[in-house]
Amino acid sequence: MKRFNKIILPLFMLLIFEAVAVTLWLTKNNIFYLFNFSYIGVSLALGIFLITGRYRYARRVVQLLVGLYMLVFLGIIRRENMQIEGFWYYLFTGVFEAATIHYAVAKIFGPLIFGRGWCGYACWTAMVLDFLPYKVPAGPEKKKLRPVRYFTFALSLVFVAALFLSGAGNIERIMFWAFIAGNVIYYASGIILAFAFKDNRAFCKYICPVTVFLKPMSYFSLFRIKCDKEKCVSCGKCKKVCPMGVDVTDNSRKRKNATECILCMECVKNCPKDAL
Ligand code: SF4
Ligand code: SF4
Ligand code: SF4
Repeated sequence: MKRFNKIILPLFMLLIFEAVAVTLWLTKNNIFYLFNFSYIGVSLALGIFLITGRYRYARRVVQLLVGLYMLVFLGIIRRENMQIEGFWYYLFTGVFEAATIHYAVAKIFGPLIFGRGWCGYACWTAMVLDFLPYKVPAGPEKKKLRPVRYFTFALSLVFVAALFLSGAGNIERIMFWAFIAGNVIYYASGIILAFAFKDNRAFCKYICPVTVFLKPMSYFSLFRIKCDKEKCVSCGKCKKVCPMGVDVTDNSRKRKNATECILCMECVKNCPKDAL
């Protein structure tokens, strides 16, 4: 069964991305989409293959392959704002390309299949934050800070709406610099919060506006970590290694922090009974 999963799961992921790549290439008559989504699909498929083969740094490899590609090549070289303000910008202009496609695939409809896989394997913000020392939170969750994400979400929307309403010129250029400034702010606040709360993923839990899309969609995710109750001995190790505070032994969709799971597989790797 494990050998089956090692081949079938990466192939399944590759097929999903190839289907997107070919569809967009043909419908938009732009071969860039074929390259773009094939590259991401191959990177993710490689990651799943390495994870099922229990290669220790599998997730890091994918984070770097996809995260650097999106940050450096798409964001800086091609000057496409892939952040949330870029999504609003393309949405307002009525153009289904760049950030709107990225959001549709990775953050709005994709999570119905692979949950918050984006957060575990592809996000360029978390790519850096995951190198910090607090891989598992060392302090209690700051529940009162959770609503901050709605504020940052609204702020991004108001920022882009204001640009359109004020008739600002050369919005493309503003979007590029908003991408650069946004990333600097994300990295700086993410690093400060990680050290302040002793939690690498504090930014993801409290600040990131993208979770406003990701969390409700990932609730219905096809891929989920499930617990085999016959094998589980309730040792609690899975909870201790989880960076997101998920109660993975509860199989219900309403389990504690269900929509926080980033499919990092730390719980699976550390379960002494192979129950996950
Ligand atoms: S929550 Fe936001 S910052 Fe964190 S990994 Fe997901 S998209 Fe990236
Ligand atoms: S680590 Fe495995 S055995 Fe221990 S509680 Fe979690 S699922 Fe059960
Ligand atoms: S440790 Fe398990 S439950 Fe926690 S985020 Fe990673 S995959 Fe999800």
